[in-house]
Amino acid sequence: MSGVRVRRPGLWVAGAVAAGVLAVGASGCSGGGSGEGVGEGPSKAANREAPTAPGNPAPAAPRLDPRGVPAEAYTRWGLAKPLAPAPASPDRTPVLKPSGPPVVLDRVKTNDKVVFLTYDDGAEKDPEFVKMVGDLKLPISMFLTHSVAGSDYGHFKKLRDAGNGTIQNHTTGHANLRTLPYEAQRKQICDQQDRLAAHFGARPTLFRPPYGNYNDATVRAAGTCGVKALVLWRESMQIHNMQYAEGKRLKPGDIVLAHFRGPAELKGSTITEMTTRMLRRIQDQGFTVARLEDYL
Ligand SMILES: [Zn+2]
Repeated sequence: MSGVRVRRPGLWVAGAVAAGVLAVGASGCSGGGSGEGVGEGPSKAANREAPTAPGNPAPAAPRLDPRGVPAEAYTRWGLAKPLAPAPASPDRTPVLKPSGPPVVLDRVKTNDKVVFLTYDDGAEKDPEFVKMVGDLKLPISMFLTHSVAGSDYGHFKKLRDAGNGTIQNHTTGHANLRTLPYEAQRKQICDQQDRLAAHFGARPTLFRPPYGNYNDATVRAAGTCGVKALVLWRESMQIHNMQYAEGKRLKPGDIVLAHFRGPAELKGSTITEMTTRMLRRIQDQGFTVARLEDYL
């Protein structure tokens, strides 16, 4: 199998170093004396290099959970337990219409205990987040603004490909669209559709107006650019906690807003730390994450 990296003995006590190894199935999840994750049969690489004590089984390929993620990855990214798999058959009624103006939504009607992760703007481009999204196979919908994300669309391509993500539209310049006439709104939306299609090979179907501000002209303008839905949100992830639209609980089908922000905006926290906290809030309430586009 190509891609199996040789791991020097001792390296894998440093959790961060093992990150890139897991994806290719050669991580030693029996490490640390936990005895977990052994049993799928030894890998060749592990046999060759592992300095196992007499009587210890050689490290085996990691046991994957139903989401295809090794349990160790959840631990490494600060989660106490695995994320539950999203239902194989989503409970949904089709939301998007083949023609006509786009729909506006901030949640999806479903009985599944799922919520949807969306990340906005694109200023922060942290390579650790690519690892996290890949390790945990996070389905994230990324709403990109050209003026901040455009300096490195390659980063977002990696993010899309690492997990189960999609690239969506958040205007060229993060304008408050309600203050602009129809044609100017159309330019903010359509120009970004064209750019994202050119860079990512697919024309977005979803659009998020900056600040959640829109009017009838926005809906019409977005429709002419091929947008099928204006996507707002029910919860907004802050540095440590979520702000809820109502009550203090997630509801099935809620869309959760987060941002590509770094330590300067998160009071020293990284985007991966913020995401860990968000995932904990989601797990603590008995929810898991699903791909928004699978429910539309
Ligand atoms: Zn924004």
